Amino acid sequence: ATKFEVEKIRRDFPILNRKVNGYPLVYFDNAATSQTPRQVIDTIVDYYSNYNANIHRGVHALSQEATDKYEQARQKVQKHFNAVKSYEIIFTSGTTHGINLVASGFAAELQKGDEILVSAMEHHSNIVPWQMLAQKTGAILKVIPMDEKGELIFSEFEKLVSSKTKLIFVNHVSNALGTVNPVKEIISLAHENGAAVLVDGAQAAPHIKADVQDLDADFYVASAHKMCGPTGVGMLYGKEKWLNKLPPYQGGGEMIATVTFEKTTYADLPHKFEAGTPNICGGIAFGAAIDYMEKIGFDTIAAYEHELLEYATIKLKEIDGMKIYGEAAEKTAVISFNIEGLHPYDIGTLLDKMGIAVRTGHHCAQPVMDFFKIPGTVRASFAFYNTFEEIDRFVEGVKKAKMMLQ
Ligand code: PMP
Repeated sequence: ATKFEVEKIRRDFPILNRKVNGYPLVYFDNAATSQTPRQVIDTIVDYYSNYNANIHRGVHALSQEATDKYEQARQKVQKHFNAVKSYEIIFTSGTTHGINLVASGFAAELQKGDEILVSAMEHHSNIVPWQMLAQKTGAILKVIPMDEKGELIFSEFEKLVSSKTKLIFVNHVSNALGTVNPVKEIISLAHENGAAVLVDGAQAAPHIKADVQDLDADFYVASAHKMCGPTGVGMLYGKEKWLNKLPPYQGGGEMIATVTFEKTTYADLPHKFEAGTPNICGGIAFGAAIDYMEKIGFDTIAAYEHELLEYATIKLKEIDGMKIYGEAAEKTAVISFNIEGLHPYDIGTLLDKMGIAVRTGHHCAQPVMDFFKIPGTVRASFAFYNTFEEIDRFVEGVKKAKMMLQ
């Protein structure tokens, strides 16, 4: 029995009262996007009801209020990820945007024959931008392999990294398997070899309070919508020296100091990377989401989710023909599985009929599926507002689906 007051927390999430196909919703697709608490919804309503205005330029009261709130949100993100300076936090539209910003900026830093390392368990959004960068620059993309448990093979990484390595991309947590990667060790070895590291924190951010100074990450990216915030907003942390070095990603308003037709000078950080009117409300709501999760506490969240993970893993393993992919020693509350002879899509569809939301398919990580020689999996991913009773319903649902399909 846990002291975690999950019923009280669930009252913060209006959507959890929903019925789907006649059943109370069981939402186990948290790795795709998390649900939104009333506190964040209220922040959004408050913004549009009371101080919607464009920021940074207006002299009027609403504009100043919106600017203050937006910059306070940046400081919340800074504090949460422990960046040294608030201007090392760039608001983006999400993880994908942050990765593309860095990939595009590095085009001028790389030369033919330079090497880029990427892990075998990356999301497509942390593969494709680097392939595009490699094509553009003549750099070579190499892959850090993983093993059957879904863990990166560190000794192989040690062999791959050299003075030729310029950049390394690795996710903090794999979205397909839940593996927590040893990013601190990876960064340390990378730096010994003079390489920079971008950590894709999209899946870690909802569960682990990352400390970018402790990790010594060069870049760290995440999306608000996976951590109780709205879609369309995220963060890029970059060390000041890198953000000063990289060129702007997009040109436009907000990112300039002076413009003439002969020459433009760029604004200081963070505005250099924030061209155009940003997602003002989204940024402010991202701050509210961080407040909300911090109030519960990331250690508390991680401990409770771990109990859910262990419970569900034991229960699922009792089912005949069950194969769980990714059994890393350290993993977040993600279970990717198949049942022998059944297609993941069929299981997902039947679960949906019972009001249970899971993800099926390749999870934007086709190389991981290729490694296991499967087209896809069923993925159940838990959040701190899920319950043991929901897991019971889910396991019963999987058993029922299996009976219907066999
Ligand atoms: N990286 C990982 C590990 C992810 O799980 C995701 C989202 N599924 C992304 C990147 C992309 O995030 P977004 O779609 O919010 O840009």
